[in-house]
Amino acid sequence: MTEPSVFTRIIDREIPAEIVHEDDLVIALRDIAPQAPVHVLVVPKDPQYADVAELAAGDPALLAHVVATAKRIAEAEAGGEFRLIFNTGAGAGQTVFHVHAHVLAGGLEESRLA
Ligand code: AMP
Repeated sequence: MTEPSVFTRIIDREIPAEIVHEDDLVIALRDIAPQAPVHVLVVPKDPQYADVAELAAGDPALLAHVVATAKRIAEAEAGGEFRLIFNTGAGAGQTVFHVHAHVLAGGLEESRLA
């Protein structure tokens, strides 16, 4: 059996986090190392999908729910505009292999994609 991810441990309340939204399907929490004024992670509770490609193939409705949750958070915190990032693979910077969306918002006008 593989170890539960840090996000599963947060979902199970084994480690603390600043949770901004939770429903039956997803949890949203503030990133511990924020890269923008708003930096929230939206995480499906189902741990079986390691990345967004697996999620899109396996449960597109759940991926749509992740995106809708990101929109709702951006509306509540930053006027509704946001950047949505899914690092996919270690070579692309993914460090937690439990799919999650980075919702970045606020003060992004000058930033550039790498
Ligand atoms: P990624 O590198 O795309 O896999 O993103 C993982 C993200 O999880 C990073 O931005 C980390 O800062 C964040 N992170 C790791 N541990 C925690 C934690 N305990 N609470 C909140 N965010 C975390």
